[in-house]
Amino acid sequence: MIDFQSILTSINKAASKEKDRGKIADYIPELAKIDLENFGIHLIDTQQNTYSAGNSDEKFSIQSISKVLSLSMALGLIGEKLWERVDVEPSGDPFNHLSLLELENGIPRNPLINPGAIVIADILVSQLEHPKEEFLAFVQNIANDDTIAYDVDVAKSEKRTGFRNFAAANLLKSYGNLNNDVDVVLDFYFHQCSLSMSCAQLTNTFYMFMNHGKCRRNNTFLTTTQVKRINAIMLTCGFYDEAGEFAFEVGLPGKSGVGGGIVAFLPNKFCVATWSPGLNPKGNSKLGMLALEKLTTETELSIF
Ligand code: GLU
Repeated sequence: MIDFQSILTSINKAASKEKDRGKIADYIPELAKIDLENFGIHLIDTQQNTYSAGNSDEKFSIQSISKVLSLSMALGLIGEKLWERVDVEPSGDPFNHLSLLELENGIPRNPLINPGAIVIADILVSQLEHPKEEFLAFVQNIANDDTIAYDVDVAKSEKRTGFRNFAAANLLKSYGNLNNDVDVVLDFYFHQCSLSMSCAQLTNTFYMFMNHGKCRRNNTFLTTTQVKRINAIMLTCGFYDEAGEFAFEVGLPGKSGVGGGIVAFLPNKFCVATWSPGLNPKGNSKLGMLALEKLTTETELSIF
């Protein structure tokens, strides 16, 4: 049997010695306040045994990781017609690039880059009576944890500086791929990105993606086909323009965020989350990627 705890302990030890910890995302001013020294890792297996090391219970801003959750809720609400408004191809471009959107007539490359996630936010705003409250309740329900909340200071901070997201939303609107007001959709999007969770809470939330759409209490949130689609998108598009490198080094589907979190999983086996706020030049957590590479190398477990 694999001794996950001793592997996580040694990953944490290696992380604490690392001098080059990457750079904190300061384009959202509130995120620039986070201490670069943080590192946490938490793993849950299919039997629901848990293992952790470092600051695995400290909450951080999950940012783009939330895009998987909004996609899941939207797919559950409107089904396959969602794909008429957003494609499923990797972009090979940074998450906030706008050029492809123009080239491809307002259909975002995938739901995990910003324009794609903004279209998903628009769908939720159209479908839900109280979008922010109902989306939060959806996430709390999956995780079975009503302490999960938005960090309103982070949402406000991003609203003040989110110029590129305003540009993306306006471009989508000009192509007819945004039905609601730009301000309303972005207010929802900034709140969604500000969700605050620990590594442990992230693995509880993403448990269903390694467990055929069933959460830890065995309630079904997604069908087998929906899980297949979303996991495929995480594998091919979950790490900005470094999805290839992540598959190459780590070999798991997952999603990262500019708050320094990464969640990844091996279907039917385990779900793991790391947090270290320093990012590499592509926007992925520097130590998080190293940690997950070490995990899959030492356990010899990956989807390949
Ligand atoms: N809220 C962030 C933005 O739109 C999310 C970025 C990310 O984590 O990739 O810029």
